[in-house]
Amino acid sequence: MARIVMKFGGTSMAGTERIRRVANIVRKQAARGHEVAVVVSAMAGETDRLVNFCREANALYDPAEYDVVVASGEQVTSGLLALTLQSLGCKARSWLGWQLPIRTIEAHAKARIEEIDAQALVASMQAGEIAVIPGFQGCGSDGRVTTLGRGGSDTSAVAVAAAIKADRCDIYTDVDGVYTTDPRIVAKARKQKAVTYEEMLELASVGAKVLQTRSVGLAMKEGVRVQVLSSFVGEDAVPADEHPGTMIVSEEEMNELVEKGDMERQHVTGIAHDKNEAKVILTRVPDKPGAVAHIFEPLAAASINVDMIIQNVGRDKGETDVTFTVPQADLARAQA
Ligand code: ASP
Ligand code: MG
Repeated sequence: MARIVMKFGGTSMAGTERIRRVANIVRKQAARGHEVAVVVSAMAGETDRLVNFCREANALYDPAEYDVVVASGEQVTSGLLALTLQSLGCKARSWLGWQLPIRTIEAHAKARIEEIDAQALVASMQAGEIAVIPGFQGCGSDGRVTTLGRGGSDTSAVAVAAAIKADRCDIYTDVDGVYTTDPRIVAKARKQKAVTYEEMLELASVGAKVLQTRSVGLAMKEGVRVQVLSSFVGEDAVPADEHPGTMIVSEEEMNELVEKGDMERQHVTGIAHDKNEAKVILTRVPDKPGAVAHIFEPLAAASINVDMIIQNVGRDKGETDVTFTVPQADLARAQA
């Protein structure tokens, strides 16, 4: 018997029919005697819709009220999943962010989880009740609803897994694992059996959409075993226990897998892409100490985030080229 957190994304939760499919996957895990907590996203597209309502209501919206609105998407799906599980004969209940509570700092719309009180949650799981927890939301010390930033449900799942000392945090999504690159673009992309936290952190931060970057950092810090797998499996598919997607593992675990022959030693783990970067090339920069600081200090002062930097080997006349990237949205300001 294990204690497992199962997280389902927006595509898997989009509509009552898909929620029934999710409920069946959850029911199968619970039927194996596991203690199960489920973390859910809002239905696909719902959070965007709610954000638009806020913009329409007040272009200069108050982030605290924005959180009240956008957190509702996950409240709906957690209640619906609990209802569906009950209809399948399972004991299940929802636990909203403020009920556990999931305590966060007050930074509305980009809150960070500080602590989760898991006592009541664990007691109910031990009594055989499936816990359904809305992702993305928490509660400030002033009692008001907070949200964790877009894509935050992954972080909720990892934080819950850490709080209840889960054996595994299974992230069910619309792909069946982490690929060498985007399989929708490159047909030859392969699914990976395992990638390390560091590799996943890099891939997520440069555009691989599988996991929210912050959730990977948290998993690494807390040592949570994360697995990425597909929720779009047939009725007769083997449960996640035997049908692993991609495990996110520590460096040591990866070395063991390589030694056992389960994984090949790879020099390049994967390739991710991001179309929102702009490249700036400055030519004929004086090739002397301090010159580059004169370029990057004003950018830092303007809070423009520079990602990649390449400085070429100096040319003859004591000059060199400096190339760097900034977010597309900051290009005009960077040029100025
Ligand atoms: N529903 C939220 C969003 O769309 C959180 C999540 O799905 O992870 O950003
Ligand atoms: Mg997501």
